[in-house]
Amino acid sequence: MLSKSQTFFASPELIRTPATLREVLGARRKQANTIGFVPTMGALHEGHKSLVRASRDECDVTVVSIFVNPTQFGPGEDFAAYPRTLQQDLELLKAAGAQFVFAPAKEDIYRRDHSTFIDVGPVAEPLEGRFRPTHFRGVATVVLKLLNLVSPDVAYFGQKDYQQTLVVRRMCEELDVPVQLRVCPIIREPNGLALSSRNAYLSAMDRERATAISRALSVARQLVRGDVRDAQVIESRMREVLTSAGITDIDYAVVAHPETLAPLDAIGGPAVALIAAKVGTTRLIDNEILTSPDP
Ligand code: AMP
Repeated sequence: MLSKSQTFFASPELIRTPATLREVLGARRKQANTIGFVPTMGALHEGHKSLVRASRDECDVTVVSIFVNPTQFGPGEDFAAYPRTLQQDLELLKAAGAQFVFAPAKEDIYRRDHSTFIDVGPVAEPLEGRFRPTHFRGVATVVLKLLNLVSPDVAYFGQKDYQQTLVVRRMCEELDVPVQLRVCPIIREPNGLALSSRNAYLSAMDRERATAISRALSVARQLVRGDVRDAQVIESRMREVLTSAGITDIDYAVVAHPETLAPLDAIGGPAVALIAAKVGTTRLIDNEILTSPDP
């Protein structure tokens, strides 16, 4: 018997158009197969792979989308430079055991005069929403379109993009999207750096410097474990850890409510720490749950 990690998989089937996707998945649905879906922008790494594994463990069929979604990038952001590595991605997805890869052209997702966008409201407004004002309407719109195209039973997202998980959950609840959502843990390098496709932009020195982000989050967690409850004290310690590593371009380093993202003064219940900062010219985000909701 092969253990799961030793299993060899067939290459995933690459699907380029919504019409083929519907046809192929329609046939699977007729066989009563459950469908798991992992939306990505490609340049895949172990973080993405963990979502694929979660889907494979739970569903009969796993579909991964690879689409660098133009509407979630603001003017002056890295849409053109975003790494596109389809051949490597297909290799990784073969090893992870995905059966289908949906990699459409921009024109197959957005007609030239596309004009419908999803605005999720307050949970999309602070933090990323403040620094990337059109980001979440692009994310919500493409996620809804992809969910409509794939019609999965379960969709998998990473806690790495914490606010995104709240935005997608809210959208699915309020728009009655018939899908179950799973949020999977953040996969990190041994030095703590959260895996991200954007880490490819980092120089060796910046990569080392970027480890201060997860260190700052660990310090926040230790403070809370040590019964420090004052959010301001925790936030200034996080900033100190960042600045002493040479990370001074900090968009936010905050403690917030894990469901609303409202800033907290004191930690008396559930809390999450979130950081966004530029390391060199690369903007990175990371987060850590400080205290979970009571069971
Ligand atoms: P992206 O390709 O960056 O849009 O990410 C696709 C999905 O992978 C999102 O749900 C991300 O949150 C998730 N993801 C990205 N990095 C990680 C990571 N280090 N650990 C776990 N999930 C991740």
